Amino acid sequence: MSDFISNQKETIGDSLVLIVDDDPINALVIEQLVTEFYRTHSVSSGEAALEYCSNTIPDIILLDVMMEGMSGLDVCKLLKKNACTKHIPVVFITSILDQNSENSCWDAGCVDFVSKPVNGITLLNRIKSHLTLKFQADLLRRMTFLDGLTGLYNRHVLEQITDKGILHAKRSGHPLSIFMIDVDWFKKYNDHYGHLAGDECLRQVADALKSVFRRPADVCIRFGGEEFLCFLPETDHQGAKYLSQALMDTIDKLSIEHKDSSFGTVTVSVGCVTVMPSQSKVELNIVEAADAALYRAKASGRNQVAFSNV
Ligand code: GH3
Ligand code: MG
Ligand code: MG
Repeated sequence: MSDFISNQKETIGDSLVLIVDDDPINALVIEQLVTEFYRTHSVSSGEAALEYCSNTIPDIILLDVMMEGMSGLDVCKLLKKNACTKHIPVVFITSILDQNSENSCWDAGCVDFVSKPVNGITLLNRIKSHLTLKFQADLLRRMTFLDGLTGLYNRHVLEQITDKGILHAKRSGHPLSIFMIDVDWFKKYNDHYGHLAGDECLRQVADALKSVFRRPADVCIRFGGEEFLCFLPETDHQGAKYLSQALMDTIDKLSIEHKDSSFGTVTVSVGCVTVMPSQSKVELNIVEAADAALYRAKASGRNQVAFSNV
């Protein structure tokens, strides 16, 4: 879910600056200036910049406006439309200074621009200011959307994830599976082993989820205390069955002792629902459906998966 949050950097000096300029001399001058303080990568076209950002998310982009092929303005507009790249600050490097061109730069979604010939001190200060702001915004996003204990998403993302996922499922026609997972007899675990051990147990369960649901589009959310929700786009019933077994095996392999459970180790119960957009069932509340299936897994004895047949 790089959609919301980029990886935490230790310091601003770890930042990656992408330089986009089709004039090799310009690119070199900027690169020499910037590499003294930050990591850099240079590309010589807008197309190459988009290609690069589809694999690596830079912390800031210095973007030439006038380029052969795709213009800097078009590149910026595309970056701002994409959930994965829209938070990257774009600073235009431009030799055009008329009012209309300036307005176009703002309209495209840049945070700033620096005019050519570049004043090195000004460019470095602009970069530093925008990186500082981006760090603060990233931190806020992380605090807002991530669960401190497990590093999974928290339920603040739920609405965005379900809305986006359902929309995608409808557009693509692909199925969508949801898992609701709850640790069995967890109150007893806490009572027996203490709250800190309980926290460690939750971390291990969360890591197990991350290891099983590994596709980039998969989203694992800590839904409540010892309850997790995993949202798996493009996953049909067969896929969901396979993944649920992989999850049960992974939890089993953790072998976390739980003397007050009849299973002897920590186990989970799972409610699973798969919806096919073609059957127009995606309108129903899939989270509620997964929760109902989880309830059945609990009622049938725990340590098992129940599938909802919506
Ligand atoms: P069931 O098998 O029916 O799910 O039983 P349970 O005991 O797991 O469920 P219950 O809802 O009764 O208890 C959940 C427990 O989870 C109680 C609460 O203290 C504990 N819990 C919730 N959040 C945390 C947490 O962040 N850390 C720790 N250590 N425990 C937590
Ligand atoms: Mg429980
Ligand atoms: Mg619970």
